[in-house]
Amino acid sequence: MTEPADRGREVTARFAAALAAYLDGLGGPELVAEWTRAATAAGLRPPADAAAGAWISRAELAGYCEAAAALSGDGEIGRRLGEELLRLHTADPMVAAVVTPDGGPGAALTGIVEYLGAVTSGRRWQLAVDAGSAVLEASPLGAAAASRHFCAAIAGYLAALPGAYGSAGRVAHRHCEVSGAPSCRWELRWTQGGGGAAGVVQLGRWVSYFDAMTSAAAVAGSGRAPAALAESLLDTLEQLVPSPILVARVDGPDGAVTAARGVAPAAADDLADDLVAGRCRGGALWVPLGRSGLLGALAPDSPSLPTAGGAVLTAFSRLAGAVTEAAAARRDAELARAETAQLLDFAGRLAGATDLDDVAGIVATTTEKVTGATLALVLAWDAARGLVPLGQPGGEASLGRAPVDPVELPDLLGLADRSTPLRVAATECGPGLGARLSAAGATALVMRALADDGAFEGLLVAAYPGPGDVPDDAERRLDGVADLARVALARARALETARYQATHDALTGLYNRNALGAIVPAGGDLELLYIDIDRLKHVNDELGHAAGDAVLAASAQRISAAAGPDAFVARAGGDEFVVVRTRSRAEAPRHGDLVASAICAALSEPFDLAGRDVYVGASIGIASSPSCGHDLADLVTAADAAMYQSKRSGRGSWRRASGAHTRGGGLEDDLHRALRSGEITVVYQPQVELAGLVTVAVEALVRWDHPRRGLITPAQFLDIAETAGVLAEVDREARRLALAQARLWAASFGGLPVSVNLSTQSLIRPHLVDEFAADLAGAGVDPTAVEVEIVEGILSDKQLIAVVSGLADLGVRVAIDDFGTGASVFARLKRLPVHTLKIDRSLVAGGDADRDAPILAAVVEMGRRLGLEVVAEGVENPAQASRLRRLGATRAQGWLFGQPTTAAEIERLVCSQAANVVTGSRGPAPSPLAPGVGRVL
Ligand code: C2E
Ligand code: CA
Ligand code: CA
Repeated sequence: MTEPADRGREVTARFAAALAAYLDGLGGPELVAEWTRAATAAGLRPPADAAAGAWISRAELAGYCEAAAALSGDGEIGRRLGEELLRLHTADPMVAAVVTPDGGPGAALTGIVEYLGAVTSGRRWQLAVDAGSAVLEASPLGAAAASRHFCAAIAGYLAALPGAYGSAGRVAHRHCEVSGAPSCRWELRWTQGGGGAAGVVQLGRWVSYFDAMTSAAAVAGSGRAPAALAESLLDTLEQLVPSPILVARVDGPDGAVTAARGVAPAAADDLADDLVAGRCRGGALWVPLGRSGLLGALAPDSPSLPTAGGAVLTAFSRLAGAVTEAAAARRDAELARAETAQLLDFAGRLAGATDLDDVAGIVATTTEKVTGATLALVLAWDAARGLVPLGQPGGEASLGRAPVDPVELPDLLGLADRSTPLRVAATECGPGLGARLSAAGATALVMRALADDGAFEGLLVAAYPGPGDVPDDAERRLDGVADLARVALARARALETARYQATHDALTGLYNRNALGAIVPAGGDLELLYIDIDRLKHVNDELGHAAGDAVLAASAQRISAAAGPDAFVARAGGDEFVVVRTRSRAEAPRHGDLVASAICAALSEPFDLAGRDVYVGASIGIASSPSCGHDLADLVTAADAAMYQSKRSGRGSWRRASGAHTRGGGLEDDLHRALRSGEITVVYQPQVELAGLVTVAVEALVRWDHPRRGLITPAQFLDIAETAGVLAEVDREARRLALAQARLWAASFGGLPVSVNLSTQSLIRPHLVDEFAADLAGAGVDPTAVEVEIVEGILSDKQLIAVVSGLADLGVRVAIDDFGTGASVFARLKRLPVHTLKIDRSLVAGGDADRDAPILAAVVEMGRRLGLEVVAEGVENPAQASRLRRLGATRAQGWLFGQPTTAAEIERLVCSQAANVVTGSRGPAPSPLAPGVGRVL
């Protein structure tokens, strides 16, 4: 029965390698050479050849041990071998890279027994572990003869194991097959305590995976060209190990072939050598494959692999699991050669599939082939819907797509718990499922849970016309596919979730802004409604953000309902929504107006928040193609502007965009005019000292007071100004206004330092420094009371630094705006003409707490040490302010302390603070929010 090539696949070849290592340690290469001569004289393969393969026979192991015992005069050679094996395992650098310091001998044994099961054949291993002791039992499965050396090696390995945890172990070999007992039994005791050494749990698992891969390489190598195999292994590996560089070296008849991802093909070979030699920088990990092959992962710029430890472990184990299936199949000759190829192919194809349907289809097709079922399917778990039938190649036979109620399955919990296949008749299922199965011509089923560690992907089902059609070993065959199927389904599901999250808004479940471009059909006449919820800020302020969120979620539902089933609804951010419809020829010309008024009406109804009626409302702008432009971006711009106007002219209404709301459509021309006709204005936002919350400076922020469109914010026109090449003029206009104001303030209440923003276009202007000096002189303002805000990036340009230095030489202070967002100039800060760091709003808000908090703390601390003023921007709530104060920030700017407002308001604010100081009033500080709340000027 057994093919010649399979003879001797009884014990992992690592036993031979360990024996060689032991003898080498004992008597050096001469002793090893003598041993080799003795072994070959006894008719055995040279030990080195045997050790280079994957497997040896028990008889070979016994022969090698006899030869070694005779040479060394050591009757306990088996025990030495076991100890040496353990030493090799714990010293293995790739194992050392992943072992973790937990578990103890008891936990480690679990892994080791798993390992024994994978790397020896002919015995069933059973383990019982207690505190400080364990019993291991090996029962013979076939005819493979017992060997006292093998038994001694197991004893040696076990006895040495507790040493890895700093405790001592004793082993008793209670009874042994060699002396006629029906099974072998070892009892291990160890002293408690010690611990803290390498977690040999992982070690055992790893070793078994490595061995599995080694054997798999032999199997796989027989069927496929090495180059193709290397590529397909990389394909799989790439899906599993998110490491920048991956390498696979596969043995071939003409030497090994190396392929890699993340480096040039020509460099692959050297890289593999470097990995083995430990010459690689950064995080590196490799596992051997065949005689000289390997699989490796490398992250040169990181101290460890990106997903060090657990994740890499699992990832590799998954791959190994896949290959193990193939190897096991081949080893046991349970599946024909063609089926082995099928499994390998299965792994390859699964790696390419990304959506759940695809994966289920591949799984089902392979399951049909491997198990001989007439219909195979995946019942994919869906918490909301139950078990959804997927896959189902089965020719005519099919269950349809309607979900299956979990209660219809016989013993679902038992199935999920054991992960062993269950053979049942269709009649044992609930009546609904039973009827569907018999309609599909299936009366006998074998099913298996796709579950692991509490994660449940669903069930894999192979269905047959009658019980007589089910192969005897159907369970084994199903097992062969299941592990890989589970991993692939889990991965597809994770990808689908990620895809969903990337395109959907978590709060409302609507599409998000990013998704808009992708979901709206191209072509056709589009109509876009830009919706802004009125008074949401009020709800947030008065009832808290949870209430605001509830209103937003409910608004999303009302908008969707009012927009109708054919419209796309997205949340554009904050309290803004977008509805896009394709206009049909049949509809009335202004159908969109009806939709808008339906939405306005729906949102003007009260929301019931815990028994309390809350009113919001909506302002809407409508834009349609082609009059407002052709692409989505044009429509958004136009509708947004129209919405804004509708908000200004009283809320709760909608307004159509005219051509003038469109981008480009005139704005640029208008801008040239605006610069001459005094439409450019400036508002001021207070900067406060965090210690006493007193306003100590202001930032001048530009606004465009458009005669028809009203107040336009920088976000809406600065890049138009930039494209039109007039941004420097805008800056200068804003600066002149701000300086004139500073002068007036100086006269009326003693003055207030003023910051102005300088764009790159300003800085590259030939005579900026002279112009600036003239502006200062013209206004009669003390340069030291003026600060210019520039963005971080400028400071990496020598010429621009010179300009900034020129400004600093005038006596003007220099602030770095939006600090923490751009390319960092940390290293050079000390040498640059900088006085202030303005920490960007995003860091202050700390959306990503884990990442942002430490950066924020570091930036504040660094600024302090360099003697710079540190201003935190965008402070919106007291928690942020107090945190900043705790971190040592001295100044802040943001809505909490005041929105950008008019010069007159600033004056009032400063004077009332002064009055408080003068009268020593301990009454409430002037409202941190500037009057005219709710609107950002
Ligand atoms: P910036 O220099 O970072 O100015 C701060 C921006 O954040 C202002 O927006 C301000 O209204 C806003 N802001 C202040 N506190 C808060 C807060 O607590 N929360 C939130 N969410 N935002 C807050 P604004 O006025 O719309 O200005 C936007 C940007 O336009 C400015 O960002 C600046 O880069 C640019 N800008 C403004 N005026 C000028 C100017 O005269 N010249 C140039 N070149 N750029 C300017
Ligand atoms: Ca600024
Ligand atoms: Ca800023």
